[in-house]
Amino acid sequence: MQDCIFCKIAAGQVPSKKVYEDKRLFAFEDINPQAPVHVVIIPKQHLETLLEIGDAHNELLGSIVTASSKIARKQGIAQSGFRLVANCNKDAGQSVFHIHFHLLGGRPMAWPPG
Ligand code: 5GP
Ligand code: ZN
Repeated sequence: MQDCIFCKIAAGQVPSKKVYEDKRLFAFEDINPQAPVHVVIIPKQHLETLLEIGDAHNELLGSIVTASSKIARKQGIAQSGFRLVANCNKDAGQSVFHIHFHLLGGRPMAWPPG
């Protein structure tokens, strides 16, 4: 989609620190990290919010979870622990309307989240 920052990052039109890529996914370091490891995992397909996810996306979503554990191992946070978070719409604080999952780790995290 034109004017979507994450589409541009996935296409290499906006620079990012890439940590993972496959045919469907792209992952990069968050520009404003909230933990020592903060990776953003996105589908290359432009989908605005989790509300657009349907049965046709089950394989895509599964591949995000699989990629998250691969990235966590590579980043050295698999055993210490990590959090995989997707914010949907206003109350959750979604600021970029291209579906993404935050992979956070490298420090203890509070629950419930703020
Ligand atoms: P949200 O608030 O929508 O859940 O998460 C959006 C995330 O994308 C934020 O953590 C923000 O720091 C990150 N972000 C926004 N624009 C850019 C960018 O241009 N480059 C990178 N690397 N991260 C970005
Ligand atoms: Zn997009």
